[in-house]
Amino acid sequence: MEVKEVKMKSFEKKDIGLKEFLEDNLCFKSKSFISLNPFYGCSVGCAYCYRLSHKGLFNVFKRPERFATDEETIELLKSKKELIESDYPISLHDSSTDPFLPETIECTINLVRLIKKADINKKIVIISKVPIEEEVIKKLLPFKEDLIIMYGFSNLPTKFESPNKDLKKETLKNFNKYKFTVFIHFRPIIPPFNDSLESLEEVFSLVESYATGVIIGGIQFSKNVRKNIENRNINLSLSESDQKYLSEEILEKIKLIRNKNYFKKPVLFHNSCAVTYAMRLKKNYTGITKCDCIKNIGEKNG
Ligand code: SF4
Repeated sequence: MEVKEVKMKSFEKKDIGLKEFLEDNLCFKSKSFISLNPFYGCSVGCAYCYRLSHKGLFNVFKRPERFATDEETIELLKSKKELIESDYPISLHDSSTDPFLPETIECTINLVRLIKKADINKKIVIISKVPIEEEVIKKLLPFKEDLIIMYGFSNLPTKFESPNKDLKKETLKNFNKYKFTVFIHFRPIIPPFNDSLESLEEVFSLVESYATGVIIGGIQFSKNVRKNIENRNINLSLSESDQKYLSEEILEKIKLIRNKNYFKKPVLFHNSCAVTYAMRLKKNYTGITKCDCIKNIGEKNG
């Protein structure tokens, strides 16, 4: 596998080189998934992008760049027997880019096809936040039963992220039209930018109309995320100690909304809880037990 040479600083967390990082990132077990990432880089430019904690890479890879073929990626997955035999689902591009950018779409569809062709009997999670054309959604139709889509709709102002809200609503409508399993990623919730009752109601209405459920969460901070947000002249009331923080006030507002008769879909805190819910599993496959959304899952499964 050829990895292009890039001058970079060492990473914030792992003091390893670029080549090792990209190789490690190609197929690995993350907190919730077996993550496949033959690309690295993204043009969307979210202010809070998790890739900012990969110090040096964020600014270098401003567009998706491929560093392994689809076949190499699947061969590596097949060689990792312990991953294949685990209960974890597969996720595409979740640690590197968005799966539905012009550069990554064909790869995303091809990886799904190759996974199925290899008889790997696992759910495939695809996490995205960009508008997706109906024609692309239709290409995924033959694999619908194997897919769990997590679609970002944070309702944050454009200084945080750019994708067009109306087009994203259209994407949700189309996924619903073809009856895909879709969870809305309502995160990060960053007060006071997207936590008003109106904002919550807007997102929960979309959940109710077009999705299987919603996954909520606060912002995942790192020094670079904070710096990047401040560079956009955004004043944050949260700090690094508020990792993924959701205030009681926000949770109360969500309860208030859910108590209205027309909001019935599950509110989940973890991606793995959404997979557990979608697959009607009795227990979360990652071993999480102390989680409020487990109660939701238990109720659903009776
Ligand atoms: S779409 Fe995902 S990978 Fe791209 S900038 Fe936003 S958070 Fe980062």
